[in-house]
Amino acid sequence: MLFKNLGLSAELVDAVTKQGYSSPTPIQSQAIPTILNGKDILASAQTGTGKTAGFTLPMLHLLSRNPKSNKPRPVRALILVPTRELAAQVNESIVTYGKNLSLKSAVVFGGVKIEPQIRILRHGVDILVATPGRLLDHASQKTVDLSSVEILVLDEADRMLDMGFIHDVRRVLKLLPKKRQSLLFSATFSTKIKNLADSILNSPVTIEVARRNTPAEQVAQVIYNVDRKRKAELLSHLITSQNWQQVLVFTRTKHGANRLAEKLDKDGIKASAMHGNKSQSARTKALANFKDASIRVLVATDIAARGIDIDQLPHVVNFELPNVPEDYVHRIGRTARAGREGEAASLVCVDEHKLLHDIERLIKKDISKKVVPGFEPDPSIKPEPIRKPRGPRPERKATFEKTKSSKPQRRPQRSKKLGTQKNQKTRSERKRRQSK
Ligand code: AMP
Repeated sequence: MLFKNLGLSAELVDAVTKQGYSSPTPIQSQAIPTILNGKDILASAQTGTGKTAGFTLPMLHLLSRNPKSNKPRPVRALILVPTRELAAQVNESIVTYGKNLSLKSAVVFGGVKIEPQIRILRHGVDILVATPGRLLDHASQKTVDLSSVEILVLDEADRMLDMGFIHDVRRVLKLLPKKRQSLLFSATFSTKIKNLADSILNSPVTIEVARRNTPAEQVAQVIYNVDRKRKAELLSHLITSQNWQQVLVFTRTKHGANRLAEKLDKDGIKASAMHGNKSQSARTKALANFKDASIRVLVATDIAARGIDIDQLPHVVNFELPNVPEDYVHRIGRTARAGREGEAASLVCVDEHKLLHDIERLIKKDISKKVVPGFEPDPSIKPEPIRKPRGPRPERKATFEKTKSSKPQRRPQRSKKLGTQKNQKTRSERKRRQSK
């Protein structure tokens, strides 16, 4: 896939080529044509996936193809972001990608003097990048008019809500025209995000790309070395002896998930299986039971790695390591969400040493290894080849509504690092907002 095939103007293709981008990232190849088509999108993507160019490029294209002659220029695109450094970064991208166009952008955030921002806004800007609090300050002083906004981007919506900006966001929304194109980006999808999305987006196209390959720092990872035939027994032992109450367990196959759920049930641990062979209603029920703690263990294939969002999920277990190392990152990302602590345990037998090696190489970290007394691996057992699930991972397709890519994301280096001073200003902005 090439940028020039996505429908972008020659000016924009030239700008990205000059940045040294040879091809679009998965979020870009999905988001760009969709946005160019005028559709709303609900995109799951983290920083590092190239999401900024994913919305900036089509936005620049749409605005430049349909110029307005009003003087001063009205704000036609608004990008709401949670932090000052992100605002600066997004504006930098707009300037970089839009250098061949005559569109003007500006950035407003708190923690700095408002007057210079007022002067810039007075001259008119086409694209405004803003943190919600400072934008509302401008709106209340009537130094910004948002009644001509055609495109709204909510970037890092989950962080925005975590930081308590929901009311500010809703107040900003009231200042925008009802008829507009809206794009929402979030790394996670809690109920709150879904509610927000429902109230903002109009028949959105859902786009999901893999998380980048850095497991959440809060996840405590541990490997339990054990023989292949004793894994189920060890899992029951861990759950009961360590009193784990809510455990999401990943197996490689659907049959494996069924078998394990049955075995746990027999051991007196309430469990259900969730995978692509189950009906949607059975899956919904299993998930609901897991969430309300009517069952203690949900045994799932990788289908659950993406669809599940459970607040405070404390334990993820890899009953078998995934065949694709990136899926490990994805699976363990189900715990320690929203800054909370979590634990990811992997039961590893002699067959899986190569998979483990690949995972450790991907995450650039040695995971600590443990052996539970009474479950010492038998050194005479020889490795056996791991059978891959049949078919081209069919169950994953069913997980997503419209488009998705399960390909791992490269995390390219940023051209500029934002310094400590800026981070301090972000903190002061947050404090300021909290004290309001
Ligand atoms: P983002 O996820 O938007 O924060 O982007 C992360 C980094 O990826 C930034 O440094 C971008 O310059 C870079 N980037 C964005 N798109 C591409 C691409 N298609 N090829 C290579 N690097 C990219």
